[in-house]
Amino acid sequence: MKKNFFSEKRKRLVEQLKYEGVIFSKKVEKAFLAVPREKYVPERLAEEAYIDAPLPTLEGQTISAPHMCAIMCEALDLNEGDKLLEIGTGSGYHSSLCAEIIFPEKKIGKGLVVSVEIFKSLSLYAKKNLQKASYIALVNLIVADGSSNLPFRTKFNKILVTAAAKEIPEHLIELLELSGRMVVPVGKYFQDLKLIVKNRYGEIYVKSLGGCIFVPLRGLKGQQDDS
Ligand code: SAH
Repeated sequence: MKKNFFSEKRKRLVEQLKYEGVIFSKKVEKAFLAVPREKYVPERLAEEAYIDAPLPTLEGQTISAPHMCAIMCEALDLNEGDKLLEIGTGSGYHSSLCAEIIFPEKKIGKGLVVSVEIFKSLSLYAKKNLQKASYIALVNLIVADGSSNLPFRTKFNKILVTAAAKEIPEHLIELLELSGRMVVPVGKYFQDLKLIVKNRYGEIYVKSLGGCIFVPLRGLKGQQDDS
């Protein structure tokens, strides 16, 4: 019935993303099949949860389109036991996909998922969604401005930024472990998705993954125009 209705739509979307070559690893495919996107969009939009498009959340913000979440998960090469930092919790959907890969079958083990959101209202919205979808035990939610220095003692081997920065954020490169990867959309009117790799000697490589559209990163070192 309702449950089948959504899981059928979810399977079809995953097939489409595989066909398009956007999902190409088994682990990302499994995560997409496991996380119920209908629980992360506003209730009135639940039936649209498996259209490959961004949807509104709160405060004029959005939940990213599934293909964009897939591109970012694949580029990060997420693995079981990774330590992931996300800037831009939004609905909590993307951090749940990551948590599904880092803690397969929701088994709490080695690994860490921390997600930072600037709006308290959105962090609370994400908390409710994560509870509904049973991911709340796997994702640590923090309300803070991720555009400037964050008070973490630990470093992360994967960093995911889901709002567009004006330039590659230096403070996040510092938080990246050796052999770590970060994906971040950069730019204002023209945005480019960047993959940043820090090799084992600490050298930085930047690769362009193509054009994208994200809401702007706000806050102290975010985009100046908050409209
Ligand atoms: N990853 C989200 C979608 C992100 S939309 C999901 O899965 O639904 C981008 C989010 O980044 C918005 O919720 C926005 O409020 C948040 N954001 C913008 N600037 C921020 C900042 N400086 N620090 C933390 N979060 C920020």
